[in-house]
Amino acid sequence: QIITKIFKGIKKWCFTQNCWIFSLIMIVILIYICINYKLRSKKVNINYPNTNLFINGEWKTGHGKETIEVINPATEEIIGNVACAKTNDLDEALSAAEEASKTWKNTTPFDRYRIMRKAAEILRDRVDPVGQIMTLEQGKPIAESKLEVSLGADRIDWMAEEGRRTYGKLIPARSGNIYQFTVKEPVGTVAAFTPWNFPINQILQKVPAALAAGCTIILKGPEETPASCAEVVKAFEEAGLPKGVLNLVFGTPSEISEYLIPHPIVRKITFTGSTAIGKQLAALAGSNMKLATMELGGHAPAIVFEDANIEKAFKILASNKFRNAGQVCISPTRFLVQDKLYEEFVSRMTDFAENLNVGDGLNPDTRMGPLAHDRRIEAIEGFVADAKSNGAKIRTGGSRKGNKGYFFEPTVMTDVPLSARIMNEEPFGPIAPISRFSNYEEAVEEANRLPYGLAAYAYTNSTKTAEAISNELESGMVSINHHGLGLPETPFGGVQDSGYGKEGGSEGIEAYLSTKFVSQSNS
Ligand code: NAD
Repeated sequence: QIITKIFKGIKKWCFTQNCWIFSLIMIVILIYICINYKLRSKKVNINYPNTNLFINGEWKTGHGKETIEVINPATEEIIGNVACAKTNDLDEALSAAEEASKTWKNTTPFDRYRIMRKAAEILRDRVDPVGQIMTLEQGKPIAESKLEVSLGADRIDWMAEEGRRTYGKLIPARSGNIYQFTVKEPVGTVAAFTPWNFPINQILQKVPAALAAGCTIILKGPEETPASCAEVVKAFEEAGLPKGVLNLVFGTPSEISEYLIPHPIVRKITFTGSTAIGKQLAALAGSNMKLATMELGGHAPAIVFEDANIEKAFKILASNKFRNAGQVCISPTRFLVQDKLYEEFVSRMTDFAENLNVGDGLNPDTRMGPLAHDRRIEAIEGFVADAKSNGAKIRTGGSRKGNKGYFFEPTVMTDVPLSARIMNEEPFGPIAPISRFSNYEEAVEEANRLPYGLAAYAYTNSTKTAEAISNELESGMVSINHHGLGLPETPFGGVQDSGYGKEGGSEGIEAYLSTKFVSQSNS
C-alpha cells in the first residue's frame, strides 16, 4: 500500500512537471523494487540460513567456493546451500584442531564445564527457531524437532558434568616409597561423522563427550541437514569455546573421511551411519591404528508375548515405528507377535497407519513427515516391491504418497518370508513387517537371527519372561514393556554389525579418554 501511494505520488508529480522520460525511469525503478521486495519477502518467509564451514573460529565459504543445494523434503524446493570443504580447508581445520589441543587439554574440567553449560543454555533458548530449521531441512514434525533440540541441550549438560568426574585411581604399591596411580587423558583430535536422521542428536552424542574429555574435534556434518548442525556450533562459539576446538566441515563424505582418518593429527574417529559405510571406515581406521566408535544400523525385534498388555504394547510400538518416518536406528523393525494376540495387533497397527496424519512437518497437526531425501523413497519402494514379489501381504500403504515431497504411506505388511530383503536389511523407513510366533524359543531364535544387535524390545506381564528375554537377546540395548533408550544419562550402542563403543551415559566420555599409568618413587 505504501509503495502504491509513493508510486501514484511520483506519477502525479512527473505528469504535472511534464517530465515523461523521468516518469518512465521512476516507474521502471519502482517495478524493480517491488519485484525484489516480493522475492526477498518470500525468502524471509522460508527463514532458512545457508551454511558455511567453521574452521579455526571463523565461518568460511571454503577454498573451492563449491556448494551443495539443500532441499526441503516436504516440498522438494531448494531452500539454501552448504559450503564444501576441499583438502586445503581440511588442512586448515587439522592445524587449528592441533594447535587448540595444546590449551584445551590443559583447560581445567571446571572451565570446560562452564563453557559447555553456557552453550546448552544458548541452545535451549533457541528451541523454536532451531526446531524450525531442522524441520525445513529434514522433514520431521516440528514437535519432534523441538524435542531433539532440547534433549540435545540436556546431552551437553550431562557430559559437561561427566567431564568433572574423570577420576583416576591410586593403586596400592607392593613396596614402600612407591606411589602408583592412573590419570585420564584426552585421546587427542577427533574426526566425527554424523548423519541426517537426527541432525542435532547425532552430533551431540559425540561433540560434548569429546569436549568434556579435553579433545578437539573436526566434525563432518550431514550435507542434507547442515543448518541445524551449524546452530549447535554457533551455540558453542557464542558460549566462548576457544577457536579451533570445534571445527565443522561438509563436502564429499568419502573424500573427507579418506583424508581425515589416516591423517596423523587425527587420533580417533567416531561415525554414525550405515553398517556398509561403517565397515569401510572401521577398516581404514584399523589399518591406521586409530581408535574408533561405530554407531551403525540395527534391525530391532519387538516381541509381544501373549500375556502382554496389548493396549500399551501397541501404542508404544506403533508411535515409535513411525517416529521420524521410521528413519531411526533403534526403530522397532521386526514385529514378532505371539499367536493369541497376532490378529488384534495387526488390525490395530493397520488402523493406526491408515489414520496417521502424514504431511509437512511444519504443520502442527502432522504426525509423520516425509522421508529425508529421494534416496530413501527409492530404497523403501525397493523393499516393498521385493516383499510383494516374495508373497508378503500389504495390509495398508506400500506406495509413495502424492507427487510432491518425499512422502511415503505408513505401511503394514504380514506374511513376509524370511528370505525377503526387509527381514534381513535395515528398512530405515515407515514399514512395519509383522510376523507371528508360537513359543518363547521361536521368538528368541528369530530375534537373534540377524547379525545386527543395536536395540531389542519385549512386552510381557511375566517377570520371569522379562528377565529371561533380556538375558537372551543379543543386543547392545534392551527395553522391556516401554521404550526407554537414548537418554543422555544412559549408554547407547550396539554389538556385532551394529558397531562398537558406547555414546551417552558415563560410558560415553570414556571413548575419548585414555588411561595413563604412572609409577613414581619418591627418592
Ligand atoms: P550412508 O551410509 O551412505 O550415509 C549415512 C551417513 O554417512 C551420511 O550422513 C553420509 O554423509 C555419511 N557417509 C556416507 N559415506 C561416507 C563416507 N565414505 N565417509 C564418511 N561419511 C560417509 O546412508 P544414507 O543413504 O544416507 O542412508 C542409508 C542408510 O544409512 C540407512 O538405510 C540406514 O541404514 C543408515 N543410516 C543409519 C543411521 C543411524 O543412525 N545408525 C543414520 C543414517 C543412516
